[in-house]
Amino acid sequence: MIFIINSFLFDFMTFGTTLIVNFVTKSISFMSNKKSPLYSVLNNKCPRCHEGSFFITNNPYDLKRFGNLNDRCPVCNEDFRREPGYYFGATYVSYGLTVSFGIGLFLLLCVVFSVEVVPYIIILSTLLILLMPLFYRFSRIIWIHMFVKFKELKNN
Ligand SMILES: [Zn+2]
Repeated sequence: MIFIINSFLFDFMTFGTTLIVNFVTKSISFMSNKKSPLYSVLNNKCPRCHEGSFFITNNPYDLKRFGNLNDRCPVCNEDFRREPGYYFGATYVSYGLTVSFGIGLFLLLCVVFSVEVVPYIIILSTLLILLMPLFYRFSRIIWIHMFVKFKELKNN
């Protein structure tokens, strides 16, 4: 009887480990797969070809230039400027990112680690200020990804 329970537990743990390993390897391959939009968003790439740079600099903490985007993709010539006020809609994405981040941090600090609300607000405000360039860039690049579909370059 004990042997059966032991072998069942062992199978269950092996199954769990396999699931976790699969999940991690799939996530890594999804992020490093050049055709995936997540790869393009995380690596500052053009939404059309996933090759040319979207922002002029790859460094979000180059504070003089972090928000400057190329007028056109240097590789496929996709128009990044599109129309006046195009990136106004990115504020909705920015709002979604900020709120998700705030809820995630709340769950981690207040629910898991029982941190009080006031220290949580101080930590959240500090992190939001420090991460502002990242959120700014992510919201713009996610916004353009919603409208421009990936098309593989023919010479690849
Ligand atoms: Zn391109």
